[in-house]
Amino acid sequence: MRNYVDGEWRAPSGDDGRDVVDSASGEAVTHVGFSTDDDVDDAVAAGQAAFEEWRETPVEERIQPLFELKSLLEHHQDDLAETLVREHGKTFDEAKGELRRGIENVEVACGIPSMMQGGHLPNAAPDIDETAVRKPLGVFAAVTPFNFPGMIPLWFMPYAVATGNAFLLKPSEKTPVTAQRIVELAAEAGFPDGVVQLVNGSVDTVNAILGHDGIEGVSFVGSTPVAKHVYETAAANGKRVQAQGGAKNHVVVAESADLEFAAEQTVGSAFANTGQRCLANPVAVVDDAVYDEFVDRLVDIVADMTVGEGMADGVEMGPLVSDDHRETVEGYVEMGIDEGATLLYDGRDADVPEEGSFLGPTVFGDVDPDATVACDEIFGPVLALVRADDFDDAVSIVNRSEFGNAASLFTDRGADARRFRHEVEAGNLAVNAGTAAPMAFFHFGGWKDSFFGDLHAQGEDMIHFYTDAAVYIERWPDA
Ligand code: NAD
Repeated sequence: MRNYVDGEWRAPSGDDGRDVVDSASGEAVTHVGFSTDDDVDDAVAAGQAAFEEWRETPVEERIQPLFELKSLLEHHQDDLAETLVREHGKTFDEAKGELRRGIENVEVACGIPSMMQGGHLPNAAPDIDETAVRKPLGVFAAVTPFNFPGMIPLWFMPYAVATGNAFLLKPSEKTPVTAQRIVELAAEAGFPDGVVQLVNGSVDTVNAILGHDGIEGVSFVGSTPVAKHVYETAAANGKRVQAQGGAKNHVVVAESADLEFAAEQTVGSAFANTGQRCLANPVAVVDDAVYDEFVDRLVDIVADMTVGEGMADGVEMGPLVSDDHRETVEGYVEMGIDEGATLLYDGRDADVPEEGSFLGPTVFGDVDPDATVACDEIFGPVLALVRADDFDDAVSIVNRSEFGNAASLFTDRGADARRFRHEVEAGNLAVNAGTAAPMAFFHFGGWKDSFFGDLHAQGEDMIHFYTDAAVYIERWPDA
């Protein structure tokens, strides 16, 4: 794996590194070296130099490479998706879906000439005209997680560069391959040297970014403890920062819900991407009146799932990202049993390939809403079913979570849906849909311990994050 700095592909110069492993086979795909402070310095210096010209480049010219990038990403969608399957383990369909959501952000950022306009008001005061503008700031960095290696860099990069900034990506060291491929395509699309750059690395590289005077702002997506560290350190160093953290989302199944539909959607939401998704709903809070029927339907669907290698036909769920992570998730399965939950479907006994980091879908019933398996982010294919006395009880269980990324409700009653929208403390809500994933022209980000900052990823918020506002007041008295 290489860094991309000032238009050149260079080896990271640190001594440390790690293998990137295909978790379906256990075989190394490649090796990634980690970058030093000097590597980060070089990238920041090149970004600052590029910024001086790029900010003056007319916006219509700045978005032309984005149109080209969209077309290149679409042209290479299948091979990029296969790369995603190899480095992450997800299924080919999931990989294509991920890329589609990433490409949407490139499409939205092509509208920057309209989106970053300010405002003008003649005669704001006697003989005074007033104009508000938005200006780019310099070099911005993004630090991204392992679970959506193609999409998450694209939550940030298109907006950063279209608004006139230089952008530096530090992808997850567990899954850096697709990001490198996307940066190669960005270079091919015609961004000037230094405008889009990549440094590989781990904790030390991130800390070099957080402490660097030449970086104006940092976007982070990852686990909550690291999000807090990034938020506090970047802010203490005077940077703009948006830090998206972990999640433990809920589905509420109300008494009036279409139970078959709710069960299908809950399974999709809990087990897509092998449960390694910040928008997964790994806790289903089910009204006691329909609990037993819902459980029967859900377990039937889970028992039919096909687990296997992501490129194989008919596979619905791939392996976890690594053996280490599978051990962690299996530890939580043990903990659920120790905590007294009923193991309705044991993924450890499921029909899965022998090689690789596979774990089948696991379902716990009658889980205490305050049990560890119902509260901790497990980030694997483990679904906890919780009984609720009624709708009020369900909402109160959802709002007890320390996280607030997303929640879904299945109901046939508008009044429940309305209350859910008003009362549930989460940033992304869905009614009669399993996954509350906003399109790229809406912002995306959670509440509570799922997000630290104020401006979220995607859409309009990105324009505000990547620009500063200025106001011009003008008076031109008659000669
Ligand atoms: P992670 O926090 O381990 O790593 C994320 C990034 O931070 C990586 O680039 C890594 O190199 C870096 N990093 C790791 N430890 C660090 C440290 N101590 N100091 C500085 N940098 C460090 O997360 P992950 O395991 O790659 O991803 C899974 C997590 O990401 C889950 O918690 C998931 O919920 C979260 N996530 C959140 C969202 C969201 O939008 N809220 C989206 C996707 C993933």
